[in-house]
Amino acid sequence: MQKIISKEVKFKDGVGKIHAISTGTVSVKKRFKLAKGGNILSKINFMMDKEFTEPFPIWAWVIEHPEGIFLIDTGENANVNDEEYFKKEGMFFNWLNTSQFKFDVAPSEEIGVQLSMLNLSPDKIATVVLTHLHLDHIDGLKYFKNSNILVNDYEWKHPSFALPSLYPEWLSPTLMKLHENENSSFTKSISLTEANDLLLIATPGHTKGHCSVLATPENNSYLFAGDVTYDQQQLIDETFAGAHQDFKFAKRTYHEIKKYAAKNKMVYLPSHDWESSVRLEGDIFFS
Ligand SMILES: [Zn+2]
Repeated sequence: MQKIISKEVKFKDGVGKIHAISTGTVSVKKRFKLAKGGNILSKINFMMDKEFTEPFPIWAWVIEHPEGIFLIDTGENANVNDEEYFKKEGMFFNWLNTSQFKFDVAPSEEIGVQLSMLNLSPDKIATVVLTHLHLDHIDGLKYFKNSNILVNDYEWKHPSFALPSLYPEWLSPTLMKLHENENSSFTKSISLTEANDLLLIATPGHTKGHCSVLATPENNSYLFAGDVTYDQQQLIDETFAGAHQDFKFAKRTYHEIKKYAAKNKMVYLPSHDWESSVRLEGDIFFS
């Protein structure tokens, strides 16, 4: 199990912490990570690909902020390898999820269990922010019945490759309507804190409703980028993932992030990059 990486940061209204927690690993088809062909063809190509990548982490992020504790994404659960797990989603999605991914998640790696290592119970998480609705980002929701769960309105209404039969029955998220904001460099965003130092920003491409979270404590900024890309190199090279829903949106998002990073010290933290925790720990900025 990957150890939790923790970092102290100074928000406007007090000291805070950021924790990186990996909820197990996943391997995907190589063409799922790196597209061959355009929007449509790349999907066929990854499904036909016989080669898998090395295992990636599945990061979830805890932000201890003066205004409350936020969790960004909830990671994966140990029962993802149960043969029956995807049956309710019908033949195609059952096939897709059992043939295209190799998960390795121990019960002790689930988010609820790992939070206890930080002396944080799920009940202490006031807000859960979902970057998008893919299973490896939302499967840990089962622990957070008492938290306020935030999802971009568009992502909720127009999900891509989501598996609603696996959502907790009680799930009724707060739908966030992002908008133009003169205090933000990003086209669409909404503040998650009174202090305006935690923003939900629209980063479409991987899904059309995909969002990231931008934290701006003193001196630095941290972009919790979900699946904008699978690693930092992919953003530098501007390559697309076969998994991306819309390449045109993805390109626009890449450019927006790079433009921001050119003007601000920004640590780039995608969900499936082993180096994300290294960059968080060492404040290694995107350049
Ligand atoms: Zn995803």
